[in-house]
Amino acid sequence: MHSHRLLLSLLGAWLLVACHSTGPLGKGAAYGDKPGPRDFQTVVIDAGHGGKDSGARARGLTEKNLTLDIAKRLAALLEPDFRVILTRTHDHFVELDQRAQTASRHSNAVLVSIHFNYGRRWRAGPETYWWRVDSYSLARRIQRHLNGACPHESGNAGLVRRRLRLTRNPTIPCVLMECGYLTSLKDARMLGTADYRQRIAKSLASALREQRMAGDTGMGPLPAPIYAPPSRATDARG
Ligand SMILES: [Zn+2]
Repeated sequence: MHSHRLLLSLLGAWLLVACHSTGPLGKGAAYGDKPGPRDFQTVVIDAGHGGKDSGARARGLTEKNLTLDIAKRLAALLEPDFRVILTRTHDHFVELDQRAQTASRHSNAVLVSIHFNYGRRWRAGPETYWWRVDSYSLARRIQRHLNGACPHESGNAGLVRRRLRLTRNPTIPCVLMECGYLTSLKDARMLGTADYRQRIAKSLASALREQRMAGDTGMGPLPAPIYAPPSRATDARG
């Protein structure tokens, strides 16, 4: 009798653990339901688009070139203190799932994916996308530092919680930034200067250093996790 009850309570405990670790939507749905990273060693830098995929094009600027430029600047700023991995180092095409897989090969690491926006001509300024609890603090810090670098904003969404392949699927904390609107005259003018691109890279580096030092400290209560399956190419927004 006693051992029967013990078995039942063990089963109950296992069920609790199993449900918590996988969430109601099956294996892996709870990815990222943990505190934000601290003392991480590796930064995986993803320069969005590349090769046949130019990304946004407006006002003489091409997203894939700008993302690679910022990625290289950020890598140079971080390299003295971090192990830096780039998902691409030249102008070639890399699938989104491949980028997520590259990130997932590293532990004690974070992924930052660099993009630029396209929209109505009056929209301007940075946006930062996150999904998982473990990526929230880093996303907030990145958006705050990008806002500090960019002297204007208009109609931009700011900090956005959205499930994308690069905010949901890697096994490490992951954040995607739209570092300005190519369609905005103000953003585009500044992005045309190396000085401003360096300022963007510096703001990303500062956010990463701050996160490494402080973790979630000062961020208040962490958001509740949203359990959802991995993002796929067939989703409306991938
Ligand atoms: Zn993009």
